[in-house]
Amino acid sequence: MEGIAERVGTVRDRIAAAAARSGRDPADITLVAVSKAFPPEAIRAAEAAGVTDIGESRVQEAVPKVAAVGRGVRWHLVGHLQTNKAKTAVRHFDWIHSLDSLRLAEALQKAAVAGSLEVVPVLVEVNLGGEASKAGLPEADLLPLLRGLAVLPRVRVEGLMAIPPFLEDPEAGRPYFGRLRALGEKARSEGLPHVRMAHLSMGMSHDFEVAVEEGATMVRVGTAIFGPRP
Ligand SMILES: *Cc1c(COP(=O)(O)O)cnc(C)c1O
Repeated sequence: MEGIAERVGTVRDRIAAAAARSGRDPADITLVAVSKAFPPEAIRAAEAAGVTDIGESRVQEAVPKVAAVGRGVRWHLVGHLQTNKAKTAVRHFDWIHSLDSLRLAEALQKAAVAGSLEVVPVLVEVNLGGEASKAGLPEADLLPLLRGLAVLPRVRVEGLMAIPPFLEDPEAGRPYFGRLRALGEKARSEGLPHVRMAHLSMGMSHDFEVAVEEGATMVRVGTAIFGPRP
């Protein structure tokens, strides 16, 4: 757990500097510390350093960690979600960053009803690079999906999420981040029911500063906080 508090501080400073460069208020950017592959003690150390939001990739891995750490932090599912895990996911996560089909939205709506949850806050994951290896919806399918959600009132779309193709140079991600922002603005202008489109979850350890400059409201940072994954 050595060094977690210090690294949280460094990441926060870098977010603040990136926000300042782009005339933004750092308070508008949520740091989601992605703790996959790390134990509950690491999450507690991040929490003690002021982290309020924790990201996990897999439902099964997260369930015992949520039980161990508790609900004093907000839990974000940042990895792919299968429809058969929707019920468990809505019970353990406060936000789901990986909605990518109407079928999954239907499963989340059902899970919300079964769990007496008024709303499930979700982000729609967009596959900006069109990479077969990555989850997410093709850009062209975004508006049709959002329109299809009209009949699923408990699924509230808070915004968009993307993982651009990995490129060594963080600057190379900038056009992708800009495109996600433009997509979000276009979707918001449609004024669809329960589509808020106020958030952009983008930017990871190697490129979160560029993402902040391009409008990220949530950055998902693992390695830069917890160190390399074992
Ligand atoms: C693992 C993961 C992250 C964090 O990645 P780092 O490069 O370690 O910061 C962010 N988002 C998603 C979806 C992830 O799976």
